[in-house]
Amino acid sequence: MIIDIHAHCCDLRTPGSMDRVPLTMDALLARLNDEGIDRAVMLPWPACPEAVTFPGLFGDMPDVVSQIRASAAHPDRLIPFGNLDVRWGGNSASADFRWLLERYVDLGCRGIGELGGNLPFDDPRVVNVVRQCGELDLPVLFESCGPGEGKYGLIDEPGSPRLERLLQLAPNTTIIGHGPGFWAEIGPLLGPEAKSGYPTGPIGDGGSLQRLLRTYPGLFADISAYSGFNALTRDPQRGLAFIKEFSDRLLFGTDTCFADAEGRMPQLGFLKDLALAGGITDEEYAAIVGGNAERVLAFKA
Ligand SMILES: [Zn+2]
Repeated sequence: MIIDIHAHCCDLRTPGSMDRVPLTMDALLARLNDEGIDRAVMLPWPACPEAVTFPGLFGDMPDVVSQIRASAAHPDRLIPFGNLDVRWGGNSASADFRWLLERYVDLGCRGIGELGGNLPFDDPRVVNVVRQCGELDLPVLFESCGPGEGKYGLIDEPGSPRLERLLQLAPNTTIIGHGPGFWAEIGPLLGPEAKSGYPTGPIGDGGSLQRLLRTYPGLFADISAYSGFNALTRDPQRGLAFIKEFSDRLLFGTDTCFADAEGRMPQLGFLKDLALAGGITDEEYAAIVGGNAERVLAFKA
């Protein structure tokens, strides 16, 4: 069973990328068939205002619920997540999201994400939502970046102190990390700017990502997008050691954002090659491409 933990079905173009081919539900299903992927977690987008890039508002299925309903029509292939903005419902750290979360579960959702917002990971409104997701056994998948304005991911400083605080404040919730701010932490960071980027070269010692994965069993890592692929491949020897140590915590994903050929992602081919070459065992491969996701989603075929 191969599960893409990170897929979209909406128009993710920006005014500066109108030459790209926008995603549709048909394009998502065709890609899964073409790449030999059994199922995909469909993450509806956008929910937070920082993620609105305008062209999507004019495409098909511009909102979270329409994307969930369209995915629920393909229960053999798609596993929808719900999505929300932690400022919904009155912009309060005590807002009750249970009614919404229960409706998402009724629609077939198995988690929440990808959660964004130009807010710190340990903002009380974020903690409030993540705790409530844990009460309903809904894993939460985050977009993550460094500090500053103009970003749609949850923000943090080098070393991920705010993500660590969230992990401590919501210990009963499965948290799936994703994005530059999460993966740059595979090695020590030189400054805040590096956390929103794609550091290259040797990983070195002292990355906070490894420390958090070793310390918090509820933390999983979504290897999708260039952020995940770069982290695993920038230092082949240390990258392989990371993959083997955390083979029970890594989740294969693509975060394919466009329907054109250049939108395809290399993660699955990379893992297949690694298994064929004997770098990882068949068991490690099976866990990363789908077994761990089945566990996180409490999902059995
Ligand atoms: Zn995404």
